Amino acid sequence: MKALDELTFDNRFARLGDAFSTHVLPDPLDEPRLVVASDAAMALLDLDPAVAQTPVFAELFSGHKLWEAAEPRAMVYSGHQFGGYSPQLGDGRGLLLGEVYNAAGEHWDLHLKGAGMTPYSRMGDGRAVLRSSIREFLASEALHALGIPSSRALCVIGSSTPVWREKQERGAMVLRLAPSHIRFGHFEYFYYTKKPEQQAELAEHVLNLHYPECREQPEPYLAMFREIVERNAEMIAKWQAYGFCHGVMNTDNMSILGITFDFGPFAFLDDFDAHFICNHSDHEGRYSFSNQVPIGQWNLSALAQALTPFISVDALKEALGLYLPLYQAHYLDLMRRRLGLTTAEEEDQKLVERLLALMQNSGVDYTLFFRRLGDESPALAVARLRDDFVDRAGFDAWADQYKARVARDGEYSEEQRRARMHAVNPLYILRNYLAQNAIAAAESGDDSEVRRLHEVLTKPFEEQVGMEQYAQRPPDWGKHLEISCSS
Ligand code: AMP
Ligand code: MG
Repeated sequence: MKALDELTFDNRFARLGDAFSTHVLPDPLDEPRLVVASDAAMALLDLDPAVAQTPVFAELFSGHKLWEAAEPRAMVYSGHQFGGYSPQLGDGRGLLLGEVYNAAGEHWDLHLKGAGMTPYSRMGDGRAVLRSSIREFLASEALHALGIPSSRALCVIGSSTPVWREKQERGAMVLRLAPSHIRFGHFEYFYYTKKPEQQAELAEHVLNLHYPECREQPEPYLAMFREIVERNAEMIAKWQAYGFCHGVMNTDNMSILGITFDFGPFAFLDDFDAHFICNHSDHEGRYSFSNQVPIGQWNLSALAQALTPFISVDALKEALGLYLPLYQAHYLDLMRRRLGLTTAEEEDQKLVERLLALMQNSGVDYTLFFRRLGDESPALAVARLRDDFVDRAGFDAWADQYKARVARDGEYSEEQRRARMHAVNPLYILRNYLAQNAIAAAESGDDSEVRRLHEVLTKPFEEQVGMEQYAQRPPDWGKHLEISCSS
């Protein structure tokens, strides 16, 4: 276990130089206070969780103090936003403080979001408000606990610094951890600004540090792109299987590592709705829940375009062609497991599709349905769940097929089935209304609800005593909360 001053830095991205990022010091927040910290994220840095309670912790992660070996940098990138190219983006309100390596030899980027203005702030103030920082923190740690690849979050520091959005709010910072903060948009930036040397340097950097196994392949860059395609297909399959809606899948928000990245107006589905749009500025529904699948491919094509200096167009197209079949295989595998199935049959895809159509039709709670399905034997479970469906005859027909399918699946005890299903079907997810309750309390100075919710979400598959209120459908007021993009 390390103390805060014992972190070991090795700032590999900063060493790429000024073409890639700009040195900027964090602009401190007033009266910093620890809102919440993640012990699991602390462990990634070998930090003793007790250090979160020391005053220097809040000072470090609110911009008042800095390690001598840190090299805070604002990264430059660009990207396609809502389908159109934005030539100049970059860290407008976040800074890469440095890269820390842990005892296991893993590197973690320390990225402080809400750290003040940078050369890439454009019209923005460089700040993040408390509510969006809490949402990013909770989402990162909740997704990770669900087994969905994501950037991580070490802590949220609140403050008294006023920040103007639709109304006056308070500034906060979230410390984000990821093995890399390089986005698709980094490659696009050097491609569209026609800087082939820097682009090659960036590609070498990513290949050497993040895809070293691709070096062994005959065409290392192509192998790396294929791997990125595969990771994205798998990540998006998990989003779809668990009902996660990202909300702003612009290419500047897509990680080169295939991890969920840059949380804005995201949401987990309450009622199943394939057409759900969580971002209320997304008028066309470009990033609606079901569109995430084709958009994943669109984003990979945008990256492929930026990689044309290194890889032939035919090879890129072939690699892109892997995306949909891989996505479908991962998705179906997960959905089979959510249904408690251990074998694969041709018709399983239809079984899933029919169920989702029935759920859509009746607005059935997506998370609780699967959890309840695993509580009891298939016959008892479907008999109980039937009441949630408007189309009873339709559900009965589905239930008959399901029971027959389970019977063909194999012999196992009810306990085995329950244990297996509960291990993949969470009881607790980050429902928007739960986040909203915790945020409202934190905005009036009580952070205990954020901490409790975070605790519950770190063990989403385990029933926790006294936490029933976190496993309920939302109340009416909490059903369609509008989450603003102005975070
Ligand atoms: P986002 O929608 O958070 O992914 O941000 C898109 C771009 O806008 C990124 O380049 C951000 O750094 C920048 N940005 C977002 N909010 C702010 C802000 N309050 N101040 C400065 N830049 C911002
Ligand atoms: Mg972003």
